[in-house]
Amino acid sequence: MKPPPIHPLDSRHICLSGLLALCMLCAAPSWAQAREVRVGVYANEPKILLGQDGQLSGILGEVLGEIARQENWRLIPVPCDWQACLELTQNGSIDLLPDVAFSAERALHLDFHRQPSLYSWSQLYSREGAKLKSILDLEDRRIAVLAGSIQQDYLQTLLDSFGLHAQLIPVHSLAEGFELVANQQADTAVANQRFGDYQAPGYQLRGTPIMFQPAQLFYATRKGANADLLAGIDRHLREWQDSPSSYYYQTLQRWGGERPRLLVPSEAWWGLAVLAGLLLTALAGAVVLRRQVDEKTRHLKASEQHLNTILDSVEAYIYIKDPELRYQYANRKVCELFGLPLAQVVGQTDERFFDAATAANLHDNDRRVLLLGERVETEEVNRSPDGSLEQTYLSVKLPLRHPDGRIYALCGISTDISEHKKNLEQIHRLAFYDLLTGLPNRRLLLDRLQHALAQHGRNQLDGALLFIDLDNFKDLNDTLGHDMGDRLLQQVAQRLGSHVREEDTLARLGGDEFVLMLEGLHPQHPEAIAQIETVASKLIQVLAEPYALQGRNHTSTASIGIALFSEARGTVDELLKRADLAMYEAKAAGRNTLRFFNPQMQAEVSARANLENDLRQSLAERQFVLHYQPQVDAQGQLLGAEALVRWQHPSRGLVAPGEFIPLAESTGLILPLGRWILHSACQQLVAWAADAEREQLTLAVNVSARQFHHRDFVDDVFAVLDETGANPQRLELELTESHLVQDVETMIVKMGLLKARGVRFALDDFGTGYSSLSYLKRLPLNQLKIDRSFVRDLLSDPNDAAIVRTIVALGGSLDLQVIAEGVETRAQRDSLLRLGCQRFQGYLFGKPEAAQRLEQWSLPAGA
Ligand code: C2E
Ligand code: CA
Ligand code: CA
Repeated sequence: MKPPPIHPLDSRHICLSGLLALCMLCAAPSWAQAREVRVGVYANEPKILLGQDGQLSGILGEVLGEIARQENWRLIPVPCDWQACLELTQNGSIDLLPDVAFSAERALHLDFHRQPSLYSWSQLYSREGAKLKSILDLEDRRIAVLAGSIQQDYLQTLLDSFGLHAQLIPVHSLAEGFELVANQQADTAVANQRFGDYQAPGYQLRGTPIMFQPAQLFYATRKGANADLLAGIDRHLREWQDSPSSYYYQTLQRWGGERPRLLVPSEAWWGLAVLAGLLLTALAGAVVLRRQVDEKTRHLKASEQHLNTILDSVEAYIYIKDPELRYQYANRKVCELFGLPLAQVVGQTDERFFDAATAANLHDNDRRVLLLGERVETEEVNRSPDGSLEQTYLSVKLPLRHPDGRIYALCGISTDISEHKKNLEQIHRLAFYDLLTGLPNRRLLLDRLQHALAQHGRNQLDGALLFIDLDNFKDLNDTLGHDMGDRLLQQVAQRLGSHVREEDTLARLGGDEFVLMLEGLHPQHPEAIAQIETVASKLIQVLAEPYALQGRNHTSTASIGIALFSEARGTVDELLKRADLAMYEAKAAGRNTLRFFNPQMQAEVSARANLENDLRQSLAERQFVLHYQPQVDAQGQLLGAEALVRWQHPSRGLVAPGEFIPLAESTGLILPLGRWILHSACQQLVAWAADAEREQLTLAVNVSARQFHHRDFVDDVFAVLDETGANPQRLELELTESHLVQDVETMIVKMGLLKARGVRFALDDFGTGYSSLSYLKRLPLNQLKIDRSFVRDLLSDPNDAAIVRTIVALGGSLDLQVIAEGVETRAQRDSLLRLGCQRFQGYLFGKPEAAQRLEQWSLPAGA
């Protein structure tokens, strides 16, 4: 027995688990050696607290936790209240105490690391509606403040230095302070900003703009102890604070959504402005302060430094300018923007840093603040001196005043909103512009049109809408692909764009449809129309010039339909519809041309619509009949007939094909109608075949181009022949030269298939179109029909005689029969005979009439 093979996966599994076990073995001793670190925890959410699992939590707790993990320290939380925590740290029972603000006094008993673990400041929180805007509003207020805290001392000093009286209510926790304010037992409470912003909503309190005592927070340890811990903390903080995606910033964000950099929330601008004001008070009020005791001066100095720290770490541009518009102060961002240290910025004016137009605009805004005492909030677009860099700012500028109300400077806070503006523009572009061509889209056009029409109602000037549609664009798209189609559209947009005035709106509606809206045209119609015609003809001309597409020259043309505002009476919809109709009229007139909309056109359009409706119905109701017109030879012998369709309309009477065949072609109704005609004609042939006198007669049936080019045409004819049992050799299909415009090769193939079955072909209306002789030779034709127009003037116009002679000669050389149609007089018949034509059709021999009449036909007397 063979041992079972070891599956490759199994062996790998063994390796992996072995490796794992090894790793665990290696790791075990290092756990044993982990450095134990006792950490003081007093509850100060969100900075530090004891989590439900008994582990450190909060910003500083989690940051320390991660450092410990990487340094292989084992943290042991020691819960205590603040005062006890401080004492335990000083006597070494606690190794690290988070959330300690540095002060010289504390530095006597504690050691701190260098890199602050958190920036914070104190802020006042109050109920909604409490009017606390600046430190001056604290007069006579009840302020809850943490007993024995640095904030208490600081606030008292601050109040004293402003000569203010307020009642400080000592509390034992920040939460207690908030509770007092919520219960109206205090007007406001002091808290560090992190606690405050995190907890205030829970008490329905809000931050006031009064902030003070910016602080840097550290982990503290007993004096002279644990230098390794402090060094480890510094190392991690330095690395993390340099990288916005680090664990440090992720933690900050988790605990209050703060971004990596200290962005100033908009509500805080006021506060920062007040801070800035305070700074300036500190600077400018030195004279007053000098009279204060030394200790106060020291406090203010410290405050100034802290303030600078804050002002330099925000992402806003903060500056102070004197009444001569010279910079007195600028924060880090401003200095970076100007590329100069603060010392070189101070004393300069904006002319040094911006181009002339920008500087002039900034000065206008600044003067409103300095001279009129306004608070200016405005967007400022600033360009560098050489104009290369342009940024948009939202600036808030406010006056700084002496206690007696005189303005001595302005403080400005500008936020760079360039990116925001760009995004807005992008959104706007997507919503209102066509991506391919960059032109306004339908939505924007409708908007402007609405506006323009309303405007037109008010002033006398006229306007016009030009509907521009490329001719045969679909063909290009289908043959060369959409890519090429897109390129053509772009070039078209470019050409149109360079030939319209700035005040006109050029839009792309979609596909190959463009619209141009012209405004401010002459109030009188003839003049306005002349103006429009000039523009439109120019456009037609430039659009018809060859386009370079992938190195190949491509020609394209356009049709333009035009409607005037003054004629549209009212709505945008009506105007668009009219321009669209006029455009179709231009297409119908052979494309590459322009058409104006007019009321008569509208009438025709409505009539056409009615006719089309009727036509659809009449097909179902079999209101059509075939009439037959005799065809004879030189001796007047009946050769056959041409079938001509008539529409017996219940109210319109007998409608001639000229009125409805084109409509049937454009709507596609010609397909079912044509099939019916063919079927009826074949039935007639079958009826004749049963009669010895008529079995030789041929029947000519007109086939329209659309019908012939339909892909099922050949099969349809075969089916009809099969269904009716008609003799194909008696059936003659009449095509016109217009059939030759499309795809001649397929046409030849189709004709060949039918010809093989015995079906005959005649080329109708010959001489009116343009047939190339080479095609003529290749088409399997049996007969040419000389067009009626040549016969009509045969006796008076020698040219016509020459043409007839040529056609007869051509027929002879191509071995085709030649028949003349529209023969009305004997003189015409005789003349044709002399020119060599042997077959005739026309009123002289008989009008198109019902089948029974043809059956009784005999050569009319005199013919
Ligand atoms: P067409 O094929 O050239 O037809 C000859 C037209 O000339 C017929 O007009 C006929 O009535 C007219 N006609 C014949 N002899 C004379 C004459 O001596 N003097 C004058 N002045 N006119 C004469 P009709 O029947 O009004 O047809 C007009 C056109 O409609 C036809 O021109 C043909 O193109 C089209 N059509 C007629 N029936 C059909 C059909 O069944 N199918 C298709 N596709 N088109 C048809
Ligand atoms: Ca015909
Ligand atoms: Ca004809």
